[in-house]
Amino acid sequence: MALKCAYGHDVNSETNTCSDGHPPKEDIAVANNMEKLIADAIQSALVTFTHNVATQATQQQQQQQHNISAEDLPNTRKPVRPKLELNCNEGQWSFFEFEWKRYKRQARLRDADIRDDMF
Ligand SMILES: [Zn+2]
Repeated sequence: MALKCAYGHDVNSETNTCSDGHPPKEDIAVANNMEKLIADAIQSALVTFTHNVATQATQQQQQQQHNISAEDLPNTRKPVRPKLELNCNEGQWSFFEFEWKRYKRQARLRDADIRDDMF
């Protein structure tokens, strides 16, 4: 019994296709089954890949958060504004100037902001 393609054409046993070039129906069934198997495999791989990416992203985020807390927090912490006693001596004034310059550097304020901050 001659094989037939999906459209009912007789399949040539030598070329294994019909006169229009269609493969035998059984092959199509196998091909469709393969397609499904491949689709399932891709789907499964995608789920695994997505999971891995999500896990990796979470780990990176946690790593970044860890880095921020470990390295940046001391620098981002608001610097302590130096205070000057009213009855200060020369040494205290020098110390205040030094501390104030350091405060300005740490705060990275613009001149205008510093003026606002001082008065
Ligand atoms: Zn055909």
